[in-house]
Amino acid sequence: MDSVYAVVKTYNNKLKRRIVKTVTGQQRINLLDLDRQAMIGFFARMGEKPFRANQMLKWLHQERVSDFSQMTNFSKTLRAHLADHCEITAPIIVDEHCSRDGTRKWVMQLVCGNRIETVYIPEAGRATLCVSSQVGCALNCTFCSTAQQGFSRNLSVAEIIGQLWVAQQKMAAEQPVTNVVMMGMGEPLLNFDNVVAATHLMMDDFAYGLSKRRVTLSTSGIVPAIDKLRGVTDVALAISLHAVNDQLRSELMPINKSYPIAQLLAASQRYFADTNRKVTIEYVMLDGINDSAEDARALSQLLRNLPCKINLIRFNPFPNSGYRCSPEARITQFRDSLLNAGHVATTRKKRGDDIDAACGQLVGQVAARARRFQQTPNETSCSAA
Ligand code: SAH
Repeated sequence: MDSVYAVVKTYNNKLKRRIVKTVTGQQRINLLDLDRQAMIGFFARMGEKPFRANQMLKWLHQERVSDFSQMTNFSKTLRAHLADHCEITAPIIVDEHCSRDGTRKWVMQLVCGNRIETVYIPEAGRATLCVSSQVGCALNCTFCSTAQQGFSRNLSVAEIIGQLWVAQQKMAAEQPVTNVVMMGMGEPLLNFDNVVAATHLMMDDFAYGLSKRRVTLSTSGIVPAIDKLRGVTDVALAISLHAVNDQLRSELMPINKSYPIAQLLAASQRYFADTNRKVTIEYVMLDGINDSAEDARALSQLLRNLPCKINLIRFNPFPNSGYRCSPEARITQFRDSLLNAGHVATTRKKRGDDIDAACGQLVGQVAARARRFQQTPNETSCSAA
C-alpha cells in the first residue's frame, strides 16, 4: 500500500494536470465515463467504426490498461490522438481495512479530493463488491451513518465503474469480483443516468460481463425512478423498506413522505411484472423500534401479494446513532414468523465484524487521520495491507 504521502502526491499531480488542461481549454475525456453507446459515439466522431468501441472497452475493463501506447490493435496515429485528448482516471485507494474473514473496506479518493467507500466481500465461489453512487447522501435516513455527512455530489460513471476497476486491479488474481451491489454511500436512483451507464458496463460482455442476476441496485424507494429503471436496465432491485407503516417509515426514512409504502410496493409490483424478477425487501432490525411479533405479522401481510424475498439486516451501530441492533433471538423469531407465513426470508450474514464500521464511518475516520498526517508526515495510511 502506498504511503499517504505518495497517494497525496499522485492526486496533486493529477489535479495540477487537470487545472492546466482547464486553463488551456482542453478538457480531456475520461474514457471510464463511457458505456458502449457513448464509446461508439466517441469513436464515430473520430471517423472510426463501432468495433473500436469493443476493443477499447476490453482494453479498459478486461486488460485494465491505462497507457494508450499498450493498445496495440490501434494505429499509432489513433493512439497518439487518444493520448492527447483522453485520460483513464479511476479513484485511488487511500485507506484499507482488512477483516480476518477476508472482507476489505476501502476508502477511495476522487480527483477532486472527496472520499467514498467501497467494500469487497469474498465468499466460497463468489466475491461481492459494494459500490457507492454518491459522495454522501441527501436522504437523511436516521439509522444511516452516511446521512450524517450530508450530500456533496453525484459520482460520475468513471467514479462508479472505477470502484470495480480498482477492485479488479487489486483482487482479480486472488479472487475476482463476481457480484456487485449498489449498497454503498448514496441513493443510486438519485444519480440515475450515471448509475444506469455504470450498470451497463458491469453487464457488458466486452467490459465485466456480469449477469443481470449478479448486479443489484438498492434504493430507498424513489418511485418514478423505479418505473424509469424498468425501461433501461434489468438489474436486480432491492427495496429498503425497514418499517410496516407510514408513520414509522417517515420517521426513519423521510423520503417516505414523498413516496409512501403503498406507492413503493405498487412500483415494486410493476418492476416484477415487467422484468419477471423478484425484488428483495431489505429490513434493518432496530431494537424496540420495528422488530416486534406484530411488526413481523404486519410485514408478512403487507408483502403477501409481492413476489419477493425478504432480507433482514442487522443494524450496524455507529456513535450517537441512538439505535441498537435487535437481539439475535428476536431476529430469529422475526425471520421464522415470515418463513411460517410462506415468505422467503433470510438474515444477512455478518461480514467484516472486526472492522465493523457502518457504511460512511470510514470516510470520517480517514479524514481525521489525514488531518493528523499533515502534522506528522511519516505516518503511513494503511492499517491492514
Ligand atoms: N440509498 C440506498 C442504498 C444505500 S444503503 C438504499 O437506501 O437502499 C444500503 C442498505 O443499507 C439500505 O438498505 C440501508 O437502509 C442499509 N443501512 C444503512 N445504514 C445502515 C446501518 N447502520 N446498519 C444496517 N443497515 C444500514
